[in-house]
Amino acid sequence: MPSRKFVTHSTEETIARGREIGAGLKPPALVLLRGDLGVGKTTLTKGIASALGAASEDEVTSPTFTLVHKYEVNPNVQAGAAAATTAPPVYHVDLYRVGDFRDLETLGLEDVLSENAIVVVEWPDKLSIRTEWPVIRIHIEHIAEDERRITIATD
Ligand code: ADP
Ligand code: MG
Repeated sequence: MPSRKFVTHSTEETIARGREIGAGLKPPALVLLRGDLGVGKTTLTKGIASALGAASEDEVTSPTFTLVHKYEVNPNVQAGAAAATTAPPVYHVDLYRVGDFRDLETLGLEDVLSENAIVVVEWPDKLSIRTEWPVIRIHIEHIAEDERRITIATD
């Protein structure tokens, strides 16, 4: 399994790395984000979703309480624009508050893996996720105040 590692030194740098990752994704794809609370998983997702044209960085906020945010280009806003037909929806799921071991169906999230989308999941180990989709595993570690080590592995 090929993996690559890099270190970021600021929030902005992590967002920029997220944009690079997002630009390289083709739907459908499942991105699993592991790492401690406050390490930068949502920050990285801002870059991923913005590179895919699904949302601006500022629109991407933590779905900790709602479990899932869906970002997609609003066809009314983008009428006629190429982006409206080419940008895949991005689901941002945060399972931090999921207490017991459950599956996506129990949580009403089965649709998330049924359309041609990019699905980003924080705290993926809270669930059993079965999918035939390509999976990108990302681990973020805290090194120092503003420094993070990001490891990316693809199947
Ligand atoms: P998580 O989703 O993993 O709980 P967040 O992305 O919500 O974490 O929060 C990360 C916090 O750490 C933010 O306040 C962000 O500004 C800060 N931060 C500082 N340095 C970095 C960095 N290099 N990469 C990502 N976030 C950073
Ligand atoms: Mg988060």
